[in-house]
Amino acid sequence: MLYRRCGKSGVLLPAISLGLWQNFGEVDAIANCRDIVKTAFNHGITHFDLANNYGPPSGAAEQTFGRILKEDLAPYRDELFISTKAGYLMWDGPYGNWGSKKYLVASLDQSLKRLGLEYVDLFYHHRPDPDTPLEETMTALNLMVRQGKALYVGISNYGPAEAAKAIKILRELGTPCLIHQPKYSMLVRTPEDGLLDLLEQEGVGCIAFSSLAQGLLTNKYLSGVPADSRAGRGLPNGAITTSGITEETIARVRLLNEVAESRNQSLAQMALSWILKDSRITSLVLGASKPAQVIDALTALSNITFTHQELKQIDLILA
Ligand code: NDP
Repeated sequence: MLYRRCGKSGVLLPAISLGLWQNFGEVDAIANCRDIVKTAFNHGITHFDLANNYGPPSGAAEQTFGRILKEDLAPYRDELFISTKAGYLMWDGPYGNWGSKKYLVASLDQSLKRLGLEYVDLFYHHRPDPDTPLEETMTALNLMVRQGKALYVGISNYGPAEAAKAIKILRELGTPCLIHQPKYSMLVRTPEDGLLDLLEQEGVGCIAFSSLAQGLLTNKYLSGVPADSRAGRGLPNGAITTSGITEETIARVRLLNEVAESRNQSLAQMALSWILKDSRITSLVLGASKPAQVIDALTALSNITFTHQELKQIDLILA
């Protein structure tokens, strides 16, 4: 495993981390969940990314991971870097969503119970809240660290201007922002518009999510939608749907697949390598429905450099 320093902090993260947004809910077989997590850990993936609302139902992924921790990984707690988040709808009423101190503090307490942990290594505010003062949200993150319930804090889905303000407030509070988690893939390149530069300048790490565009940047949708794929299963909560897979996108994906073949990589491997070619990226959070997908991703690490010509070719396909 390749480990990279997270911004200007003491933390090293594996270049590939494992995310539990999908495939770890109540409907998912615990034996497969356990296999995915153990395969990851046995190959040096020390970082596992969760959130209060991962499931379905919300909370289920933390419960599943808590069970695996207790039954399989308890002796290795100090070899693991575990994150969770809050910011999306979690429970009814005015205190179960967004970014108030009331919501975030209660949510972390609930997450710790589901995970069976005394503290998480990293707690994120999951998305910016347009109505709560940023000072309140950041003060809540600072409080969690002071209470010993989180070792580090981060932000996710913040644009560059909001991120700059959050980073400044956290620094003034004495709890530096460890990391930002944006969506970043060959198909979604918004972090290139100022965010990556800001994070580098501020010494904050960056961990990309949905770098395979939920499976679109693999060869699985090239000849239709397989029934056992994420799109084929018709999952709730923002998962990719059949209608999100257009002919136009598949035409680009087909061309990208040719570039990947010329590099002796699968498209999935090239999509991950393409993210990791940038030294500003600390890690990426991979999603996996099978242990074999984790192994496939790890192979990407043996080729994370691109020639100028390959990058130009990819840019042309994506233009
Ligand atoms: P990816 O883009 O990595 O998509 C993962 C899916 O792609 C898998 O579940 C699988 O789907 C398919 N796949 C993976 N590897 C392969 C392969 N080698 N060949 C073919 N198909 C493959 O990421 P996700 O969208 O799942 O997100 C990853 C993590 O990022 C989440 O678990 C979460 O931790 C984090 N995240 C954070 C968000 C935030 O707001 N901060 C939002 C979303 C995600 P299939 O079922 O079809 O096999």
